[in-house]
Amino acid sequence: MVTLHRLVAVSVAFVLVCAAFVQLAVAQPVTAFVIGGATAAPGTLVSGDLKVPAGPGDEGTIIPFSIIHGARPGPVLALIAGTHGVEYPPVLALQRLRASIDPKSLTGTVVLVHMANMPSFLKRTIYYGPTDGKNLNRVFPGTRDGTLSDRIADVLTREIIDRATHVIDIHCGDGNEWLRPYSYWVVMSAPAVVAASKDLALAFGLDHIVIDTERPNDPAASIYLANTAMTRGKPALTVESGGWSRTDEESIARVEQGVAGVLRHLKMRAGGPDPVAHPVWLGRNEVLRSTFTGLLYPMVEPGQTVAQGTLIARITDFHGKVLEEIRSPFAGEILYVVATPPVTQGEPVGFVAERATGIPEMKK
Ligand SMILES: [Zn+2]
Repeated sequence: MVTLHRLVAVSVAFVLVCAAFVQLAVAQPVTAFVIGGATAAPGTLVSGDLKVPAGPGDEGTIIPFSIIHGARPGPVLALIAGTHGVEYPPVLALQRLRASIDPKSLTGTVVLVHMANMPSFLKRTIYYGPTDGKNLNRVFPGTRDGTLSDRIADVLTREIIDRATHVIDIHCGDGNEWLRPYSYWVVMSAPAVVAASKDLALAFGLDHIVIDTERPNDPAASIYLANTAMTRGKPALTVESGGWSRTDEESIARVEQGVAGVLRHLKMRAGGPDPVAHPVWLGRNEVLRSTFTGLLYPMVEPGQTVAQGTLIARITDFHGKVLEEIRSPFAGEILYVVATPPVTQGEPVGFVAERATGIPEMKK
């Protein structure tokens, strides 16, 4: 027979057990983070490969990734390297970050996409994917039934960008491009997203920031990777560090430092570098392009200040006759110049940008 006494004792015990569970739930609210069948428990690191299924004319590919899942809940920061296949410092920096970010002391989650464009990396193709000739960073958000680049973009959009709260697409000059470091701050999305993206750019710390006013604002035709995040309401950034097929320490370390600054800014990790205090904001900008197919002779260096009319490059035919002299349309600074001879009609020759007279103010 159950006495009242006993009932009270059992009830008290039940309440205490419930309270303990609640305590546990408050202390460890982080659940596992799952991408592509890889499950990261709180405070752990796991790696895996996203599968891009075969399509007409190709065998599909894989996208290697790692999840560094913190012990406490917080932002989900996606870092994407290798959107272009001959851009090596970002890829090497992500391998180092995988080893150096400690999941046990991390708040939130870092998702590393080690190599977004495996076909281009393995075939060493500049700008374009080897099977379909498309620039991966011009086909977002991608399609499930398109060519290989379209399907890579679709998997990145659904599995990475849709899962993240913040996205950084990490580039450098492609294999033929000699470049000084800079980032793109896109100002075309919702004001709060634009403001938060500016903070990301400052936290990453590159001292030249291009104010980009020309990205599309339609999530169904976002074209660029970082723009895909922004049109979905997520702060994002595109950064450039290194180039010309090099694997120099300076360019790799700059990416590591930039990510360390962003982790601090998002309160994902204690410590880290200060944001850049006085960046050079660049407004009017233009990718200069060749009218001809032939050989390119660069006449400037990245970081060089040019006047309106300064000779940027000469284009010759295959025998050496000059076809075109490409001059700067306005005074500014050279951010990159193509520094290997092959050039095809319509392709970039260099990128010039002018100091901004002011920067857009955004409400948070
Ligand atoms: Zn690139």
